[in-house]
Amino acid sequence: MRLIHGAASHVGLVRKQNEDSFVAGEGLYAVCDGMGGARAGEVASETACQTLLFLQPYVTEEAELRRSVAAANDAIVEKSIRDPRLFGMGTTMTAAVGREGGLLLAHVGDSRAYLLRDATLRQVTDDHSLVGEMVRRGQLTPEQAAAHPHRSVITRALGTEREVEVDLIDLDLQEGDRVLFCSDGLSGMVDDDRLAEVLGQGEDPQAVADALVRAALKGGGEDNITAVVVIAIAGDASESGGTAAGAAAVPRFGPERREAETGGTRGAAMSARRALGRMRGRVVVLFAGGAVALLLVLVVAVALFNSSVYFVGTRDGRVALYNGMPYVLFGRELSHVVEVAPTSYAVLDAYVKGRVDAHELTSKEEGQRFIRGLAPSTTTSLPAPTGRSSTTSTLPGSTATTVGPLTPVPST
Ligand code: CA
Repeated sequence: MRLIHGAASHVGLVRKQNEDSFVAGEGLYAVCDGMGGARAGEVASETACQTLLFLQPYVTEEAELRRSVAAANDAIVEKSIRDPRLFGMGTTMTAAVGREGGLLLAHVGDSRAYLLRDATLRQVTDDHSLVGEMVRRGQLTPEQAAAHPHRSVITRALGTEREVEVDLIDLDLQEGDRVLFCSDGLSGMVDDDRLAEVLGQGEDPQAVADALVRAALKGGGEDNITAVVVIAIAGDASESGGTAAGAAAVPRFGPERREAETGGTRGAAMSARRALGRMRGRVVVLFAGGAVALLLVLVVAVALFNSSVYFVGTRDGRVALYNGMPYVLFGRELSHVVEVAPTSYAVLDAYVKGRVDAHELTSKEEGQRFIRGLAPSTTTSLPAPTGRSSTTSTLPGSTATTVGPLTPVPST
């Protein structure tokens, strides 16, 4: 069995910009529906998809998928802290990575994943929305929920809080199965019967995705519409680069946004787009150069991203700031220590230990602020790494020392 995919996104007939984003590649599928004023929603959804795309090579099991969703959450939170225009932005995420014989899904918010098997449509995800909760408690019927004035209020999102609760769903697939990932601009405009009918028609997943968008436009097009369609067909997964995570991937990232749509959050949106632009350039090279080039491209993309992120961990019993990601690839650690705090891990309280153990990806500045804020004898609560206003316990940078055989790496 192998998976083929198609994807389409449309601004709809009412909204001025498209705040949905999607990824569709071999072994990675995601729909994110952004929210927040002044184009912040577009930044949030794009950031979420971009993070998944970069971390995909490392995701082969649940814990790593959960961690990459947490990294996406962090990336959005960081951006919204840095730019007041983005404050409060968030996004849904319904994503999946390929695994042997199926998909591993991660889900937050009210975008949806559906499975169409033998002409029967089943919603695989629970809506994390006010009306979704009420339906599950038996207080509303699905029909009432679909027409409810507060149907767009969601109860979980990425980017709005430091911690995010993620639903992980393991989905076995059979040949002939079709999976749809979509934003509420599709599911809210097209009823289940029609959805099943359009999803089941034709063999080309791209044509199916386009037809689904047309159906939502016909249904009113009141919101942004995004559909990612995956079809399980006969064949060897390795033929097309495979469906397993980490396999060769030429992902599509969308939607393509016009310059005019970037407006108030141009800076952040543009930097995301530039990163993607660079990646697209490499993808073109890859068509010419084949599999070897593809591997090189992936390595370069990962290395670029890897050098830009930091996390806090431990080294020889002390708290340390690492540059890179907390993973081992081909037997090589993807991180190195840049600074060691004068604080031993053992004296930290449980909360701070938890922060250290989480290995959350962060910026250099945040990481330094965190480890320099750990006084040598401190056992009391400390500000979280993002506590921008809590600087009272920050020690001067020069007090950070290295221990043992470590040499501080000059940071760039
Ligand atoms: Ca929406």
